[in-house]
Order: sequence, then structure tokens, then C-alpha cells
Amino acid sequence: MTVRVGVIGGGQLARMMIAPAVELGLELRVLAEAEGMSAELAATAVGDYRDAEAVRAFAADVDVITFDHEHVPQQVLQALVAEGVVVHPGPDALRFAQDKLVMRARLAELDVPQPDWAAVRTADELRVFLDAHDGRGVVKTPRGGYDGKGVRVVRAADDARDWLDAVGEGEALLVEELVPFVRELAQQVARRPSGETVAYPVVETVQRDGVCAEVIAPAPAATDRLVQVAEEIGRSIAEGLGVTGMLAVELFETDDERILVNELAMRPHNSGHWSQDGAVTGQFEQHLRAVADLPLGSTAPRAAWSVMVNILGGPADGTLEERFGGAMAEHPTAKIHTYGKSPRPGRKVGHVNVAGDDLDDAVYVARAAAAHFA
Ligand code: ADP
Repeated sequence: MTVRVGVIGGGQLARMMIAPAVELGLELRVLAEAEGMSAELAATAVGDYRDAEAVRAFAADVDVITFDHEHVPQQVLQALVAEGVVVHPGPDALRFAQDKLVMRARLAELDVPQPDWAAVRTADELRVFLDAHDGRGVVKTPRGGYDGKGVRVVRAADDARDWLDAVGEGEALLVEELVPFVRELAQQVARRPSGETVAYPVVETVQRDGVCAEVIAPAPAATDRLVQVAEEIGRSIAEGLGVTGMLAVELFETDDERILVNELAMRPHNSGHWSQDGAVTGQFEQHLRAVADLPLGSTAPRAAWSVMVNILGGPADGTLEERFGGAMAEHPTAKIHTYGKSPRPGRKVGHVNVAGDDLDDAVYVARAAAAHFA
């Protein structure tokens, strides 16, 4: 019988599951937030993911529920599980990706290396942490942040006054040491409900203004130790938190060779887009295999190097679609992925993947193809 996978969220991550689902013979259904979303090429229902009734009605016609984002409230998911709906990743794992304070506390229990951190509710508590960390810190809202929203570097408790004022009863802010990282990395792991786990090579991610701009796979100049430590961190988090599906672990590498966990995503992730064209099994296929509890595919790279460049914003003159032709004509080795979104400053509207033997060449072509959309 055909397995029916229901994806909550209609963004580009759900969209990029469509082609692999067809190839795997899975039926993909999407619960989108609105009409006209990226994933509407799949069988799409429109509904509010915060509404238990809407989610329950959507779940009634699928065999497994998974996600394009991590914002579905715990009580909605726990109610589904209580009714016997199969959810991957399950709410007990997903909560560590929904709340950065809950994540920090659990990673500490698992002894995973991470920045110094504290939960703070008042300016005095924040001041104590800053005093102990050279007067600097990174304050984060524990829930709902993305692409750098909800992250602020502070040099005095006053810099976070507006956020502290908004802290409600029983809530807190997360403060972390300002990590002097030399670069950012990401480690992806896929895990099946039956426990099989595979790891991708650790990659380097380049952020601009808090948004992922480029990814290089594998991470250049990665020592054997780095590769091994990153993989061990990824596997121990996947197993320790009981993650099913794709897990992305964002990491900092410091100049004294420490690897620290920044945050987690339990779904396909921007740092893994390269694998669509650069690995034997792309992350969207792998996520579907994992949540459908099918055997996982090889994560081996298909080329020495893969480079992913995000297309951010897009042209303001309404010529986004026309430009694809030009980019494709000029760069036949570039794989251009479009999200069906209208351009807006800073918005991710697509990405370019280039795989090859020469890193400089791959970087050049991927950037040149993406530049067609500026
Ligand atoms: P988001 O959830 O919005 O993606 P992140 O927690 O990943 O937020 O932070 C966004 C970016 O801010 C990171 O990619 C990194 O560049 C920077 N950053 C976050 N935490 C720290 C930290 N403790 N020290 C230094 N830089 C940080």
C-alpha cells in the first residue's frame, strides 16, 4: 500500500520533498498556511497549524505526519500522538528544536559541548552573566526565532531592556557567551524510528546578516578529528533526543579547535541543500525515507566539492522567472532550484548547487549563476 506522508507547512522545504516522494512512490500531502505557498504543487490543504481540529482533520488521511517547520504547538502534537497518529519527529524530540532554553538544558545533560549559557529573567541576572564573560553576550528569545531574528549581541544589560520587559510569567531569555568562532559548520544526521542512523559529511556554512548565504561541502580543510567529532555530536544528539527524520546541528568552530553546538533543526535544513545534487541521497529523499521508516540511502558525496549559494531577495522588477533562463544558459553545470515565491528583500527565493572537482571553480559558477537574480 502506498505510504501517505503529510507535511505540516507549505514552504520550500515541503516543496523540495515533492520530487523525491514521487520517485519513492510515496504520496505527499501538505497542510499549507495559505493559498499560493511554495509547496502547492503537492496535494495541498490550507489550514492553521496551531488549530488542533485543522491538524487532526489533515492527519486523518495520512500514515505519518512530518514538518516543514517546527512551530506546531506541543499540545496539538501531543493530542495527535495520544490518538495514535504517527508523528516524526515526535513532539518529545521536537520540543528541543522549538525552545532554545529547553535545548541548552538537555544538551548539558547529554554532555554535548556548547557555549556557556544561562536563563535570565531580569537585568540583574543578565548583568551577572555579562560580568562573568568580558561584558559581552548573545541574548536570544527561546522560541520562534529564525534567520537571526530573536538574536542580539549585547554589551550591557540595557541593550536587551525591551526584550526583558516583554518576558512574561514563567518565561526567560537565553544568554550565551559571544563565541569567538573562526567559522560556522553544520552536521546532518538522518535517523529512522527503528534506530538506523546515517551521517552526512560536516559542511561549512557562511551567514550574512544572520541568514545562511553559502554552504561548502565538505567543510574545507577539515581535519579527521573535526570530521569525527562533528559526526559524534550529530549522532549522540539524534540518539539522545530520539530524533526521527533529518537532524541538522549548527556548530561553531573556535580558534582553539573546539566545536560547540549553536542550534538544532529537526527537518531538512538550508545547510543540506547541496546534497540534492552533490550526494548519492539528497536530504529531502533521506527525510522521507526516515519518516516512512524505509532503509536509509548512502550519504556519500558524488563529487569532491559541492557549493550551495542562496538566492536572497530576488529582482524587484518582476523578472525573477525570466532570469532563470539566462542563468541556466550561461551556467549549464549549475543546478538552479526555485521556490515559487515572489521576491522580497532578504527572502530566500531559490538556491544554486554546483558540484565538481575544483572548489574555486564550483564557488565561482554557483555565485555567478546566483548573481543573475540580484
Ligand atoms: P536563528 O535561530 O535565528 O537561526 P541562531 O541562534 O542560529 O539564530 O543565531 C544566528 C547567528 O547568530 C548564528 O548563525 C551566528 O552567526 C550568530 N550567533 C548565534 N549565537 C552566537 C553565539 N553564542 N556567539 C557568537 N555568535 C552567535
